[in-house]
Amino acid sequence: MARAVNFYQTLFFDIDETLYPKNNGVWRAISKKIDLFMVDRLQISEDEAQSLRQQYSRTFGTTLQGLRTFYTIDAEEYLDYVHDIRIEELISPSPELRLILQAIKFKKIIFTNASRAHAERVLMCLDVSDLFDRIIDIQSLNYVNKPLPEAYQCALERSGSPDPSRCMIVDDQIRNLIPAKALGMRTILIGDSRSKFVDHNITTIEELSERIFSPA
Ligand SMILES: [Mg+2]
Repeated sequence: MARAVNFYQTLFFDIDETLYPKNNGVWRAISKKIDLFMVDRLQISEDEAQSLRQQYSRTFGTTLQGLRTFYTIDAEEYLDYVHDIRIEELISPSPELRLILQAIKFKKIIFTNASRAHAERVLMCLDVSDLFDRIIDIQSLNYVNKPLPEAYQCALERSGSPDPSRCMIVDDQIRNLIPAKALGMRTILIGDSRSKFVDHNITTIEELSERIFSPA
């Protein structure tokens, strides 16, 4: 028998390329700033920076984690620098997302590898800041980023330790869903890649619906 829609208690949301569409220019602008940061601090070419960024991101989950592993980097300075983009010109309010979030009656928590300031700016641009219960950002995770399993344990603790089987998570990266699935969470991927770690595929966040929240 299908359980009630309110079976779920907590929904964790990624921010970048999850709450706003891919290819709207935000991630491209942040990537460019990351490259410029590395060009300046590591004294390398922009091509080398780009390739190192991709390599660190693949290996460590974030470029910052790679930089912190091999260099002495002021993480706060890095986060301020790379998120200093003209985000207000790239993200506009989404009344549709607002309605969807308002309809979700369980706890809504931001769980991001980005800084708190960036998360707050994105939410403000989308006009949905008041609809989230909490922001769990990279600083509050002590720089232990997704997809490290400790990040998910920490996120659960900071959210009042709900039963993971009563939690859902939405992210645009399969690798960020794998540890969540291992803990028993229900996983939603923004994107069409199929995987045993993905319970639902949606194209945009606006496709979140009660159908997904009703356990089979
Ligand atoms: Mg993302």
